[in-house]
Amino acid sequence: MTDTSWSDATIDAALAEAHVPSLINALVHLTGDVSLIRGEERPASELFGDPQGGISPEHQAAIRARAVAVLRAHRDAGFPDLPAPSPKLVKEMVDFITGVELDDAYGEFLMSELKIFDEDPYRVSLDDLPESSRRDFHVLVIGAGMSGILAAIRLKEAGVSYTVVDKNAGVGGTWFENRYPGCRVDSPNHTYSYSFAPEDWPQHFSPQRVLLEYFERIATEHGIRGDIRLSTEVLEARYEDAGTWRVKVRGPDGESTLTANAIISAVGQLNRPKLPEIDGRDSFRGPAFHTAQWQAEPDLEGKRIVVIGTGASAFQTVPEIAKEAAQVTVFQRTPPWVSLRGDYHAPITQAKHWLLNQVPFYGKWYRFFMFWTTGEGLLSMVRRDPEWDGNPGEDSNGERSVSAANDQLRALLTASVERMVGDDPALFAQCVPTYPPAGKRMLIDNGHWFRALRRDNVELVTDPIARINPDGVETQSGRQVHADVIIYGTGFYASRLLFPMKLFGKDGRELREHWGDDPRAYLGIVMPGYPNLFCCYGPNTNIVVNGSIVFFSECEVRYIMGCLKLLIGGELPAMDCRRDVHDAYNERIDAGNLGMAWGSPDVRSWYKNEHGRVTQNWPFTLLEFWNQTREPNPEDFDFA
Ligand code: NAP
Repeated sequence: MTDTSWSDATIDAALAEAHVPSLINALVHLTGDVSLIRGEERPASELFGDPQGGISPEHQAAIRARAVAVLRAHRDAGFPDLPAPSPKLVKEMVDFITGVELDDAYGEFLMSELKIFDEDPYRVSLDDLPESSRRDFHVLVIGAGMSGILAAIRLKEAGVSYTVVDKNAGVGGTWFENRYPGCRVDSPNHTYSYSFAPEDWPQHFSPQRVLLEYFERIATEHGIRGDIRLSTEVLEARYEDAGTWRVKVRGPDGESTLTANAIISAVGQLNRPKLPEIDGRDSFRGPAFHTAQWQAEPDLEGKRIVVIGTGASAFQTVPEIAKEAAQVTVFQRTPPWVSLRGDYHAPITQAKHWLLNQVPFYGKWYRFFMFWTTGEGLLSMVRRDPEWDGNPGEDSNGERSVSAANDQLRALLTASVERMVGDDPALFAQCVPTYPPAGKRMLIDNGHWFRALRRDNVELVTDPIARINPDGVETQSGRQVHADVIIYGTGFYASRLLFPMKLFGKDGRELREHWGDDPRAYLGIVMPGYPNLFCCYGPNTNIVVNGSIVFFSECEVRYIMGCLKLLIGGELPAMDCRRDVHDAYNERIDAGNLGMAWGSPDVRSWYKNEHGRVTQNWPFTLLEFWNQTREPNPEDFDFA
């Protein structure tokens, strides 16, 4: 329970733990004193360094002392309402906390992210449309994870009739499915929550159980549970004329057909586990399973475990299972880049809860700081500089950095690996990637991973796997690793988007067959030939560094609600994205991705299809996605 008292002792204790840049902006709200953000002492824009932005200890102490007086005075005055700051002042505060002077184009976007003026900038009201036409328009939402719950909430608010189906027995999507030990969110939790439902998170990066409970509770609080059919999987959907989709589902009572005017696919990209194609995989005699299909049995205590993969999932689970296993052998094909931060497993202290919940505007600025430093603020470090020579020594390992800033990031991240395992040269060499930072998603650690790799009962093996046999794994150099259990942390069929559903569009063409391994959409949301079918987290909407995926879903659902408004308001049966608009957009996306670290030809990842095209990622700014998905442009569509 958060302390709500405003005793002197509580104030003093809380301020000792304050994030000073957020506190300074809160003090501007509380005092109106703009000199606080106009002095020499300003947070630096350096993102991987001091979380206090390099503000000197003396200035921090002065700010905390001033805050003691200001907060006590605020309390003693009976917590008066504070005046709304002007947009110009908020922009100045944004520039102050980010440490960069931002283009004016950011003004409205960041203002809405801050929610100082507009409480729900992602809500689309359909209130001016007749209630009966909203009720008569039926939407099928596929998936009750983060995006599906969001879509259902917005549809319900708008009075549009809808049904949600989910293949799982519970809501929560990825947080329902992934139950491996150590699973937790790796975006700062204050940005990984719906903008309209901020949460008093127990940790900076909370565990899976907490995330699942959040999504379950939000679904309950918004009254959408009754509209969700669980354990119900979509098998196929066929578009019929006049804006009708017929959808075959299999549920607890067998197969049935649903009819909808529109479909919102909210199935995610990472829910069909991928087992590696390794010779002899099925010959292993012990239990073997994927991290996303965790099995409570067998108990891993005292067992010899092989883990294949060192992506985000394996990275989180290895330190946990190493605590009880007799031996853990981790097979690494490519090392991850790791960003160290001390708060990764840390609980949010009472003092921090108090600051976030009690000090006016502090929580908003703190969330905003996280939003910036894990999103837009990072982009300049991961853009490719065409003039940059990323491999001056021209060794065979290809591009190692994509720009001077990216090279500095590489040096910084390498130094932190050195801090953790530098005294073990062989392990150090295994842990430093050759590809550029942000070529793949960077993982977050507080040293947990590296400490696990140093345990006596853990071994990191980079000798490639030759085959799996009944006893375990045989490496290419002929070594046999005996195993009782094999755990696959080998990722998902990400580019098989919407798999295994079959969606037949206007000409009876099945969408996944049409895509092959090259999924494309306009804005990641709509596909020509598939009228009234909308995707959340569709092609090219994934992120490597750009913040939280919840942000993308909120933008997508706002856009989709705008589309429904056009359809219902115009009494139009169907809208179909124009092919030329779609194609021009995808050309731009491809050029954009080639300009980013993850587009580097030397990076192999699940972001790319087998031809090397980046099918998953968004290459531009958050501002651009926010602007482009603000509302649909009717000219982008043919209406029937
Ligand atoms: P992943 O990032 O795709 O990692 C798969 C791992 O398995 C990689 O290390 C890969 O090596 C390795 N691998 C694949 N096939 C292999 C083979 N045949 N032999 C040896 N190694 C093989 O999968 P993931 O860890 O499940 O993560 C997927 C995504 O889910 C993440 O990028 C992230 O977006 C999300 N995720 C998020 C969280 C979180 O927020 N907490 C947690 C887990 C996952 P290569 O790198 O060489 O391909």
